[in-house]
Amino acid sequence: MSATPRPVVRRCVSCACLKDRTRMLRLVRLASGGLGLGKGFGRSAYVCRSRRCLQDARRRKRIQRSLRISHHSAIDATLAAELDRVEPQNKEPGQDCPVG
Ligand SMILES: [Zn+2]
Repeated sequence: MSATPRPVVRRCVSCACLKDRTRMLRLVRLASGGLGLGKGFGRSAYVCRSRRCLQDARRRKRIQRSLRISHHSAIDATLAAELDRVEPQNKEPGQDCPVG
């Protein structure tokens, strides 16, 4: 029984892949009703930092669904901002899961 440290993985709301959470974008529905990014306690949703997953999450309102926020312009703004930061050539395919 070796104690190999395992990365903490989370499921992407877009491609449903399990990935190391440090490589994902985390959005949190704060108790105050606001939106948290990266940290904060509350119901959270994860999405891969790839254009494909970010665009899919934005287009299909997957974050909103996962966090059960029906209307929240901050989510759209956050995804749009993150898309700007992701390099165009970063086409890390969502289906290409390292796990499962
Ligand atoms: Zn994904």
